[in-house]
Amino acid sequence: MTLKAHILLGAPGSGKGTQAKRLVDTFALTHLSTGDILRDAVSKGTEIGLKAKAIMAEGKLVDDDTVNGLVFARLLDETRDVLFDGYPRTLQQAKALEDFLSSKGLELGMVVNVDVPQDVLEARVVGRRVCSNNACGAIYHLASKPPKQSGICDLCGSPLKHRSDDTAEAFRSRMGEFNSTFQPLLGFYRTRPTFRSVDGHRAPELVFDSLRQIFGARA
Ligand SMILES: [Zn+2]
Repeated sequence: MTLKAHILLGAPGSGKGTQAKRLVDTFALTHLSTGDILRDAVSKGTEIGLKAKAIMAEGKLVDDDTVNGLVFARLLDETRDVLFDGYPRTLQQAKALEDFLSSKGLELGMVVNVDVPQDVLEARVVGRRVCSNNACGAIYHLASKPPKQSGICDLCGSPLKHRSDDTAEAFRSRMGEFNSTFQPLLGFYRTRPTFRSVDGHRAPELVFDSLRQIFGARA
């Protein structure tokens, strides 16, 4: 049987990571996130892993070619179908993956975008409040998970704070940057026959039902 590489796409905050974990458990896939692959290669001390480590030590983003090299090495070790989460991140990575798969006789599987409107993502971020006591770190949301007493942590009684990363301005700036690489990537995959989009603005259980149907029906 030909190994297939499935891909889950989505913006930060779309709930993609949670859904990926459930999918790999349900369908016996190998979960491959770029972060895990990087950490794994660094800890094994492979040549490309050491290169990635040096780049990260300088506080830089690991370049596409290095990420691709790490991912491809991992893919060749796999015996089960894989689910990528956070890879490909750029159009260059997507094209390189396609070339790699066809050169090895592997197949692109399902490519599923967990679609959440940007204003919904913004509301999720902007309503977030965190406990100011670092040892506690409890997270609340003004709409979906309010504290019992306004502005006070239920667990430790410390004041809640609104992080500077969680303001609308910070969110819009991050999303602008994200979309400049994500939209071309999405455009590339939209034309593929195995591309699907699911409505991610629903309860996680319902989003997972849609994903289960898509992955359950895959050839
Ligand atoms: Zn607390």
